[in-house]
Amino acid sequence: MRPTSLPVWKLKNADQAAILRTVTQPVSLEAIPTPAMQELIAQMIKTMYQAEGIGLAAPQIGQSIRLAVIAREVQGLAEPLVLFNPSVTDMSTQQVSLEEGCLSIPKVFGPVARSWSLKLTALDRQAQTYTIMAEDLLARVIQHEVDHLNGMLFIDRASTITDGQHLF
Ligand code: ZN
Repeated sequence: MRPTSLPVWKLKNADQAAILRTVTQPVSLEAIPTPAMQELIAQMIKTMYQAEGIGLAAPQIGQSIRLAVIAREVQGLAEPLVLFNPSVTDMSTQQVSLEEGCLSIPKVFGPVARSWSLKLTALDRQAQTYTIMAEDLLARVIQHEVDHLNGMLFIDRASTITDGQHLF
């Protein structure tokens, strides 16, 4: 069965904003292999690529659970990265500022300072624990997505905000 893409929830919608601003719930080990959860993973990956995003967190499709996906193109990964219950440690004190955007806040951009490297521990789509060291853009996307799972958005961290509609 081909996965369908889902609408991406937007901050400007009050009901959707409430979910985007909610701290999400951990996913149980038992829930990960279920057909419903596997279908949700496939739908999130399809939605991310269709929206031309490089990452997507579950609250962005209205699910308040600790799940995010990251496009494989971010760092030459073999397949999209699936993050259940991610935990980030060993964040480098060295930070780099780069302009970010978000599928839930269209046409808004702003520079965000984030750690250049970190250690990610999470569960994959088979509910297996993995740990990776991430650097540069992958480390940035991981921090952006984990923020989503904590109800935080990049505009909370951006030093300035550009409304793209004013540019064009
Ligand atoms: Zn986002």
